[in-house]
Parts: sequence; C-alpha cells; structure tokens
Amino acid sequence: MIRELFHTNRPTYSLEVFPPKKDADVTVIYDALDEFKTLHPSFISVTYGAGGNTAENTFAIASYIQNQCGIEALTHLTCAAIPDPLFLNNFLTNLNRNGIHNLLPLRGDQPFWMSKEQFDARYYEHASDLVRAIRETSLDFSLGGACYPEVHQEAAGLEEDVANLKLKVEQGVEFLITQLFYDNETFFRFLDKVRECGIEVPVLPGLMPITSIQQIDNITSMSGTKIPKELSEILEKYKDNPADLKKGCLEYTKKQMQNLLDHGVDGIHLYSMNKVEIAKAIYE
Ligand code: FAD
Repeated sequence: MIRELFHTNRPTYSLEVFPPKKDADVTVIYDALDEFKTLHPSFISVTYGAGGNTAENTFAIASYIQNQCGIEALTHLTCAAIPDPLFLNNFLTNLNRNGIHNLLPLRGDQPFWMSKEQFDARYYEHASDLVRAIRETSLDFSLGGACYPEVHQEAAGLEEDVANLKLKVEQGVEFLITQLFYDNETFFRFLDKVRECGIEVPVLPGLMPITSIQQIDNITSMSGTKIPKELSEILEKYKDNPADLKKGCLEYTKKQMQNLLDHGVDGIHLYSMNKVEIAKAIYE
C-alpha cells in the first residue's frame, strides 16, 4: 500500500495516467503502461472522469497496473460520480477484491453535461465527506488527497483552503498530491503553511512539463497556474519552434524537480499524462 512506501522508498516517484476517451483505442494506454513499468515508479495513479464516464476504464487500467505490472495503483474517485452509498460500497469492494488498496477521493468539478442543480445535489459534498465514508467501511485503503499550492479557485484564500485541507487529513487522508505548479517558491510557502497548521502527512509536488504552446491556455485556465518569468521566456523564445520549445520546457521541469529534491520533498508526482517519452526523459 502507498502508505508503506513513505517509510521505505522516500522520496517517492509517481506517475499519473488517464483513461482514453470512449472512442479511442485502449491498447495505447496499456502499451504506455508496459513502458512506464520499466521506469519502476513507486506508484501510478489513474484519473476518473468527474461525472463517472471513465469508471470502467479507470478500474480496468488500475487493475492492470496493480496486477499485471506489479506496481501500486492509485485510483481516483470523484464525489460527483457517486449517487449513493451502495455505489460507493460496490466500487470499493471491486477495488479491494482486485487487489487495489489505494484511493484518491476527490470532489471533482461540474461536468459540462451535468446541470448545476444535479452537481449541487451530489451525495458527498466535499472530498473529506467521501474520505469519512470510506473510513467508516471495514475496508482498508491508503487514502490520498488533492491540495493546491496556488489555492483552490473556490477558496477565499490560503488560510481557508489549508484549514479545509486539515479537515480532510483529519478524516483519514495519509498523503497529499498537489495541483501542478511551475513556481517552487509558491510551493515552499504553501508547505510552510501546511506544516504550521499541523498537517504532517507527506506532500508530493505535482509537476507537468509543457510540451506545446497550445497546452498553456488549458493549463492556466483549468487551474489558474502561474507561469514564472524564466518559463515564460523559454515559451517566448521557442514559440515558433515546437521541438526546441519541448526541450526547453523539459529542462525547466528537470531543474524544478532537482530544486524540490534538494529541499527534501517527500516525493515527486509527474503528470505524465500517458506520454512515455516525457516520463523517460525526466526519469533519466
Ligand atoms: P475538496 O477537498 O472538496 O475542496 C474543494 C473546495 O472546497 C476547496 O475550495 C476547499 O477549500 C473547499 N472545502 C473543502 N472542504 C470543505 C468543507 N468541509 N467546508 C467548506 N469548504 C470546503 N478531477 C477529476 O474530475 N478527476 C480526477 O481524477 C482528478 N484528479 C485530481 C488529482 C489531483 C492531484 C488534483 C490536485 C486534482 C484532481 N482533480 C480531478 C481536480 C479536482 O476534482 C478539482 O480540483 C476539484 O475542484 C476539487 O477537488 P478536491 O478533491 O480538492 O475538493
């Protein structure tokens, strides 16, 4: 289970993959996982569509990671996708009976096809409510939680967000994975605040190399992530040269990662997003 890795394998090096879209070829992700396996990551996490549209594939991929690759699988699960406790219990039982004992309970965001009324009526309101419900079952899971060095978009500020994070940890979260960020100083300030508030669980910084200029709008609009000066200079310099842009951004992530490791972080979570060459370049 992931909780044990922090005693034996610190810093951890983990990867994140996402299930393919419904009409895409599923063999691509399995081939990617066979390659990821050769990098010996501490664990691989699998995302979950906020409204549950990836449930089957998320489960199948997590099962492949755990049982065929022999790597700890961390399954994401969102509140918006859980209609009632029976669904949750069945999902947890299926995981457990298939040897998967790590879960990342999340709130999720409102899917585009779900009305605000439907989203607001979800059974579990916050990730912490889901964590509590999982802890109330007899099933043993190592539970992670999401956190936000640049503050979650709906929180009034860092104080409030970290106070809510503390509630989530108190319900039974054993490690935290951050939203992606590019400015380490923001992460260090956040980590100081987290520790000051008495949150003692491992915090894994989440890194994602930029691979194309088109990606930037997505990244900044989705999570409000700031692009620091050094990185924006790289983007500006190579904006007309995709290959050099990718190389420059990869170098930036490597430097960012080295600096985090020099500061003794608990682990590095790479948002590898099914891109084998990127994960390989970083791991090397
Ligand atoms: P919460 O912890 O519930 O927090 C959400 C907001 O509510 C915050 O502003 C928080 O301060 C506030 N809050 C929390 N508890 C309380 C409380 N008790 N009272 C009042 N306010 C409270 N999305 C997906 O759809 N699928 C995925 O697979 C996925 N994976 C992710 C992985 C990571 C590592 C991260 C960082 C995010 C991921 N997301 C995923 C996105 C995530 O679902 C969204 O960021 C979502 O908006 C918040 O989820 P959360 O679990 O952090 O929510």
